[in-house]
Amino acid sequence: MHVPFLDLRDTYYEIKSEVDAAYQRVMESGWYILGEELSAFEEEFARYCGVKHCIGVGNGLEALHLVLRAWDIGMGDEVIVPANTYIATWLAVTYSGAHPVPVEPDINTYNLDPEKIAAAVTENTKAIIAVHLYGQPADMDAIIKVAKQYNLKILEDAAQAQGAKYRGRLTGSLGDAAGFSFYPGKNLGAYGDGGAVTTNDDNLAEKVRYLRNYGSRIKYSNDYLGFNSRLDELQAAFLRVKLKHLDEWNRRRRSLAEVYLLKLKNQHVDLPFVPEWAEPVWHLFVVRNRSRDSLQWTLKKKGIETLIHYPIPPHLSGAYRILGFKEGDFPLTEQLAKQVLSLPMGPHQKISIVSFVIKAISSR
Ligand SMILES: *Cc1c(COP(=O)(O)O)cnc(C)c1O
Repeated sequence: MHVPFLDLRDTYYEIKSEVDAAYQRVMESGWYILGEELSAFEEEFARYCGVKHCIGVGNGLEALHLVLRAWDIGMGDEVIVPANTYIATWLAVTYSGAHPVPVEPDINTYNLDPEKIAAAVTENTKAIIAVHLYGQPADMDAIIKVAKQYNLKILEDAAQAQGAKYRGRLTGSLGDAAGFSFYPGKNLGAYGDGGAVTTNDDNLAEKVRYLRNYGSRIKYSNDYLGFNSRLDELQAAFLRVKLKHLDEWNRRRRSLAEVYLLKLKNQHVDLPFVPEWAEPVWHLFVVRNRSRDSLQWTLKKKGIETLIHYPIPPHLSGAYRILGFKEGDFPLTEQLAKQVLSLPMGPHQKISIVSFVIKAISSR
């Protein structure tokens, strides 16, 4: 038996005729950047998230970066980031010129611990990036409360959380702005790179639109020092097709998660904790185990592919050696990096596969 972690071809085969038609439509239109497909996708995704604006950009990292730029956050400023996140969250801050200030997670939800934010705030702090890690919404009301107290902007990193809800409201509509990634493996993924900013703020939306396209309002008139970061017509057309299936695919992820949560109980692993206010979309199904590496090896021998998200926290990565952090600075984050294991999960994984994985873990 070979159980792949995720096979992206399954999604393509399910909707092949729709995707192929979208490809044909764009190829024959003769227009490949900043056209009708992008406008239509932006309108559809904004409506999906329940916000006024969506601006398609090159990828998730750029979505976060361009928002910080548009807020004029840069040199000398500080931005609160989760210590426990994918490094892109931090890189967006570094690209803007500002300084990422890490805060430890809640050990049960793995997301930013709102109680620990205040201690990290200084007079230079301008914003908080709240990541909805693994598709589990962060505790936004508590984060918003701290942000209000210190007059900070909130940027959601919703790269892993398309369709997830916090107290009935969709991620991407909860902060001042949000950055999404449409990397192929995300819950809503393109067939290449892609990203988007969502916001209800008219001025921010307008500015991000300029920034993604060379800082230009009118062709060849450049008002800002901009970037080239655009969601192309092909990816926008593919995403329009896939957006129609997102809720169904998230529903399938949820039913797999329910099986894991029910059947893996009282076994050798800690299961994800779902607060009562959270409707996660299970981008990843992450368990914890003290002897994670040996668990991963056992599963591998049975043909089950698992992954680690993420083995090295940003503060201990080579990239951030410049900030001078050392082992022990963020103990909860470091503990998670040693114990987390992502089990097979996706809209095309079968219940029988999940049962096979559960049996393999239980018989260990
Ligand atoms: C994927 C991801 C990003 C970056 O998205 P890209 O499209 O790969 O640039 C940012 N933050 C988180 C939490 C992610 O998972």
